[in-house]
Amino acid sequence: MAIRAVRGATTADTNTKEAIFAATEELIKEIIRANSLADDDMIDIMFTVTSDITAAFPAAAVRRMGITDVPLTDTAAPDIDGGLGMCIRVLIHIDTDKPRSDIKHIYQKGAKNLRPDLSSHARISVAIDGPAGAGKSSVAKRVAQDMGYIYIDTGAMYRTVGVYGLKNGIDVTADPQLIVPFLDDIKITVNYENGSQRMYLGGEDVTDRIRENDAAMAASAVATVAQVRSRLVAMQQDMSRRGGVIMDGRDIGTVVLPHAELKIYLTASVHERAMRRYKEYIEKGMECDLKALEQDVLQRDHQDMNRAVNPLRQADDAVLLDTSDMDFEQSVAAIEDMIRKAESGRA
Ligand code: C5P
Repeated sequence: MAIRAVRGATTADTNTKEAIFAATEELIKEIIRANSLADDDMIDIMFTVTSDITAAFPAAAVRRMGITDVPLTDTAAPDIDGGLGMCIRVLIHIDTDKPRSDIKHIYQKGAKNLRPDLSSHARISVAIDGPAGAGKSSVAKRVAQDMGYIYIDTGAMYRTVGVYGLKNGIDVTADPQLIVPFLDDIKITVNYENGSQRMYLGGEDVTDRIRENDAAMAASAVATVAQVRSRLVAMQQDMSRRGGVIMDGRDIGTVVLPHAELKIYLTASVHERAMRRYKEYIEKGMECDLKALEQDVLQRDHQDMNRAVNPLRQADDAVLLDTSDMDFEQSVAAIEDMIRKAESGRA
């Protein structure tokens, strides 16, 4: 017999006791199953959790599973800048006859990214395009979290350029070309903090500012400018070089990732899309008017689909997914199914 260490990690969806219990249980069960462990084989179980998990209950979750004799510890992990958020890591010492190479380390959900080498499936690139308000970003974010992909929101980059215009009194909605002389001055940084994308303009965090309606309209205007697009497309291609990304936008399947293994064109009716934006704004306490939002959706559709450079269109090899009659969970499930098939080459 030898003492060996089994490693594992997962992520919780929310910082709640139930979410942490569920994620921990799933992880520990899989470690036990994959390594055929009995309680007696386990010497100790040590958890470390990131500081955004305040309800740090992984040890309690193990007790609730009926594993009562194995000593346990919970500790806070040191914060790593740009590191994965909401993460639960575990180290289990075991008594075993197995050689070290037979030990199965388990990485689930968002933590799959930590050890892509252990992942049993191929990591693909997923391009999601579609008109404004089709639910691309919320669905893509959730799918990425569930399946251990990195989500890249390209609209946020165009919005950041739009916000530069707004902040500097450049009337890009009247004439988008006015932005061109300023392009060298626009410093955009995309950061991943606690698992979510944050946008910086110069040194300023504009993640919330870019969500306002005037930023969307300014984004749609500057997105018609060829020089803006070529800069942002180059940044996006650079960010996706390692694969394992879900990127959403308007030209991802056609221009940014023409070789993506899976391309999805996600859409819904104009009314449904305006309604979703309306609910989003109301939830955030922002004022808005449904009719005006419908007009904005129509205007952005027109602008995005009819511009000369990289207009929004469905790539020839993209799968069409109309979510007008689907709720959020159904859209997530449909896309996760497509990704699983594409990963195993069955698409
Ligand atoms: O997706 P989102 O609403 O955040 O995008 C804001 C605007 O940025 C869009 O209306 C579109 O004009 C532009 N955009 C683009 N190409 C992308 C992503 C966004 O032209 N890949």
